[in-house]
Amino acid sequence: MSDLKVQDRLRDIRKKVEAGERLTFDDGLFLYDPNVPLQDVGALANWMRERMHGSVAYYNINTHLNPTNVCVYRCRFCAFRSDLRDPKGYVMSEEQILQRGKEAIENGCTEMHIVGGLHHQLGYDWYRGILSTLHQAYPQLHLKGWTAVEINWFEFLTKKSLRDILSDLRDAGLGSLPGGGAEIFHSEVRSQLCEHKANSHKWVEVHRTAHQIGIKSNCTMLYGSIENAYHRIDHLSRLRELQDETGGFQTFIPLAFHPDNTKLSHIPKPTALMDLRTMAVARLFLDNVPHIKAYWIMLGIETAQVALSYGADDIDGTVRHELIYHDAGATTPQMLTVEQIKRLIAETGRVPVERDTLYREVHRSPDNLSQWHIGEPVAVSV
Ligand code: SF4
Repeated sequence: MSDLKVQDRLRDIRKKVEAGERLTFDDGLFLYDPNVPLQDVGALANWMRERMHGSVAYYNINTHLNPTNVCVYRCRFCAFRSDLRDPKGYVMSEEQILQRGKEAIENGCTEMHIVGGLHHQLGYDWYRGILSTLHQAYPQLHLKGWTAVEINWFEFLTKKSLRDILSDLRDAGLGSLPGGGAEIFHSEVRSQLCEHKANSHKWVEVHRTAHQIGIKSNCTMLYGSIENAYHRIDHLSRLRELQDETGGFQTFIPLAFHPDNTKLSHIPKPTALMDLRTMAVARLFLDNVPHIKAYWIMLGIETAQVALSYGADDIDGTVRHELIYHDAGATTPQMLTVEQIKRLIAETGRVPVERDTLYREVHRSPDNLSQWHIGEPVAVSV
């Protein structure tokens, strides 16, 4: 495509974005074309991000819990899982899990992100029990737990409906669902990455059902492995469609593939240019998803900072005990302090605002991190 044609097409897309019109599938493919200057795509995404969120960038104070890494599946991109009898395999005890809850509260966390493996020998009650144990001991901690893949596994274990399982988990203390397990929806890619686990229809069905009963969730896309731009736009289209129907997604998190210790270790990880382009295209294409997250653990701190001007308005949290991407070669720190995360946001010219999992502003005592209260939902202009 000539430079002139690129500029003409970009002008048309800019007009659409400024008028609040929806981008088409072809527009999305065009924005992924390497001949289209990244800085132009980024500038447009930044314009949209600032229209929605001004110069605010959100963060939270959170922790992770991966109660077991033993998993019946063998996703080719996964470096975290373990076989049942592998010395690397672990299952956390109730005491260890409670200790994590205590540590989270002492350090001011508002959220615990809980995901893990699908253990061959542990029943539904074990997974449910993690939520109820933590919720009873620390009711102020929002439990964002179990991906659609795990929820589908609970369907298999219990033979109950999705609606019954999700309602039961909510009764146990579930606050919301994370967005993991989506990977790439298109069967050409999914069949090669993770052919046995929940397919794209099931992933969508789990989130649709959660939204229908009032449970919010996030959505993700694992990019930079074997997929192409068509697969990515197809993925974003399916998320946009479900969001039109339910409005239950809070944030989209593009997840950069990390190859180390996976069965795809021969594939290089995506470049920062691909990270930024994906962030920008996601902001522009997912016009109905309020937040786009630059997950610093995966992107690296510097790229996450730049991403705050390429469409992202959220940088995730301080994080404690991240295992999944560090097992796959992430070289980012294990956690950031509150002061560090605020400073790295402020360095980008953005205003750091602490939010809870449901995007309500958190007001905190400056002298005592563990004293906080939840304010109003943050404002989003569309
Ligand atoms: S990505 Fe999840 S489901 Fe797949 S092997 Fe890893 S732990 Fe298991």
